[in-house]
Amino acid sequence: MPSARIATTPESLIRPEILALNAYHVPPAVGMVKLDAMENPYLLPQSLRDEIARLVADAAINRYPDAAAHQLKAAIAQATQLPSGTEVLLGNGSDEIIQLLALAVAKPGAVLLSVEPSFVMYRMIAAFTGMRYVGVPLTQDFSLDLRATLDAISRERPALVFLAYPNNPTGNLFDANAVRQIIEAAPGLVVVDEAYYAFASDSFIPHLASCDNLLVMRTFSKLGMAGLRLGFLAGSSAWLGQLEKLRLPYNVGVLPQLVAAKLLEHHDVLLKQAESIRQERVKLLAALSAIAGVHAYPSEANFILFRAAKAAQVFEGLKQRGVLIKNLNGGHAALTDCLRVTVGTAEESAKFIAALQDTINQLA
Ligand SMILES: *Cc1c(COP(=O)(O)O)cnc(C)c1O
Repeated sequence: MPSARIATTPESLIRPEILALNAYHVPPAVGMVKLDAMENPYLLPQSLRDEIARLVADAAINRYPDAAAHQLKAAIAQATQLPSGTEVLLGNGSDEIIQLLALAVAKPGAVLLSVEPSFVMYRMIAAFTGMRYVGVPLTQDFSLDLRATLDAISRERPALVFLAYPNNPTGNLFDANAVRQIIEAAPGLVVVDEAYYAFASDSFIPHLASCDNLLVMRTFSKLGMAGLRLGFLAGSSAWLGQLEKLRLPYNVGVLPQLVAAKLLEHHDVLLKQAESIRQERVKLLAALSAIAGVHAYPSEANFILFRAAKAAQVFEGLKQRGVLIKNLNGGHAALTDCLRVTVGTAEESAKFIAALQDTINQLA
């Protein structure tokens, strides 16, 4: 006889804050001009690709990776020019590092604070880890509202503050003095997320030496290694030593370690590609601004935020014309009618601008 056991359902078992989440949506992009995810569009030089092929062929994939990733960390320290006394913790993408930081400080009632609109993973990971999320609105032009942020910090006493510098999805760098005041006022850790460092004119790495509650996070995803999944956190050994305890020992595999170390030996190649993207960004901003009915925001990243009436229909029109960008309309109230386009090659920009012009003409 089957027992009269009450069925366990996902709804009865899973935490309510997880049930309430929407999964991070990654749309299919096969055959599209893919300008939705801030990827580097350029291939590596053939000689470097051949070197990587040999490295991979000889890799000891039957062995666990070097848990301390000595070679890769040395390559990162070399390429990044970290101040002395600064250490590095590696993540399977910087998303994993956000999660690890939150796990470390998620005492009951602990607060994770960020600004809005910003990177959605801060809020999502607060939910994953049971932290209370506080989002302080940016001003109308997407600058930091320093007064409101300092007020929220003294009221909420956040264990963790995340500031994306440049910010995603708005593309701007916040005022460095305001960020510095936030670091000084914060009772907990402040993480400056420099995912777009290769495209920006400023960094908080030099501040590491003088701010003991500051950590700087970077990823190589936007610089041409999105498929490898590699990010890092830079800071003092006092913090990183504790965080290392939470890092799963083999979170960065043999192949990513080998390939990323090799690519970082050729950091100049990647930075040259980033420079091309910066040059293309200037042209794309001008082309967008020239379209009637489009308001484009200046950017220090490899994407441009813009506003256009009927954004959802513009997004669909672009998709029908084979161009995939990111629709931000309907997310945050400050992003009504906003779309975000990655800066790709000149050819991709031309296809995007033509499709956008065509779509807007048709909607008019
Ligand atoms: C893309 C992005 C990340 C995450 O990058 P990973 O691919 O997980 O390394 C982190 N922060 C911001 C602001 C980003 O835009």
